[in-house]
Amino acid sequence: MSSVVITGIGELVTGDGTGPDRLGIRSQAAVAVEDDMIAWIGAAAEAPACDTVIDVGGRAVIPGFVDSHSHLVFAGDRGAEFAARMTGQPYDGGGIGVTVTATRAASDDELRRLLAARIAELRTLGTTTIEIKSGYGLTVADEVRSLQIARQFSNETTFLGAHVVPPEYAARREAYVDIVTGPMLEAAAPYARWIDVFCEPHSPHAFDADEARHILNAGAAAGLGLRVHGNQLGAGPGVQLAVELGAASVDHCTYLNDADVDVLAAAADTTVATLLPGVEFCTRSPYPDAARLLDAGVSLALATDCNPGTCYSSSMPWVVSLAVREMGLSPAQALLAATAGSAQSLRRTDIGRLVIGNRADLTVLDAPSYLHLAYRPGVPIACALDVAITAQRASARPPAF
Ligand SMILES: [Zn+2]
Repeated sequence: MSSVVITGIGELVTGDGTGPDRLGIRSQAAVAVEDDMIAWIGAAAEAPACDTVIDVGGRAVIPGFVDSHSHLVFAGDRGAEFAARMTGQPYDGGGIGVTVTATRAASDDELRRLLAARIAELRTLGTTTIEIKSGYGLTVADEVRSLQIARQFSNETTFLGAHVVPPEYAARREAYVDIVTGPMLEAAAPYARWIDVFCEPHSPHAFDADEARHILNAGAAAGLGLRVHGNQLGAGPGVQLAVELGAASVDHCTYLNDADVDVLAAAADTTVATLLPGVEFCTRSPYPDAARLLDAGVSLALATDCNPGTCYSSSMPWVVSLAVREMGLSPAQALLAATAGSAQSLRRTDIGRLVIGNRADLTVLDAPSYLHLAYRPGVPIACALDVAITAQRASARPPAF
């Protein structure tokens, strides 16, 4: 790609750690992009010569959101289950089992089409990096194809064969763990960067601490990085296990005791606490105390957990507004957690901050300031900027956003 300058940026949030709230804000700024990388940042009046100019007309620009927790490869619909939960009616929809059945029955093309539509949706909401888990196949073949399809859209793919014990193994848990740590892991590892486990003793379908440790150790031996679903439904071993094993992220963290907070703070350079407030919203559960975690020195990330059961939303701006309204974060803290924080949870330094040499993953807000993310909840003001396509359009017409 040739050189492009994005100019007319009323407020540029670089997230570079400088200035008030560590947001690194610049006004009347421009960004030069070469080969999908940020080549220069400065005052618009001093922008370098370039092939194409994109003028965003005074809008705010932020680092593209990094959604570090999603379950996007699935088929089927669970709208009725959600409606029943919200209206207090009994509903025996079967939960995850419904999605597993529908996903197994879907063709590769159907799963790819559904995933492509979800990826397009989240880009229009400002997300530029998405982590995608398997976990609705739960057979060797179905887990592998879920990861193969996810890999066509993201390098941040996660093997989650240990999502739940599938019904056919309910009476033979050990046999399923043997498959997950044996042939399923071997076949899935080439298409995954990470392995994840739903470590939750409060659920009979999920995995206890010993099972989770065994699965995570097997994943590490296969060369995968570690992630953990932990402490979602009640106090539990997930956080302690994640820190013990050096996991990059422990996700949910809804129920934490003082010891959990202490170990997370001590491991802040290694293990990120990823909060998923969309799940608490959609399941009417109490929110984790994010401000307490930040005060203790814990590294925080925000993500959607977009999935068909407990949070079918791909909207990171909505997650930011929930974090501010319901979890005690300032708008600046929430934005940092949804960008640099979630990048850290993926052990990435090339995304999540707009600095020279990083990927040119920019999100434009149809607003004068990032404050509007939380100030205007539910309003679609954020959109990922596809620099190459927008530059093509700009060079074909008078420059305009
Ligand atoms: Zn999840």
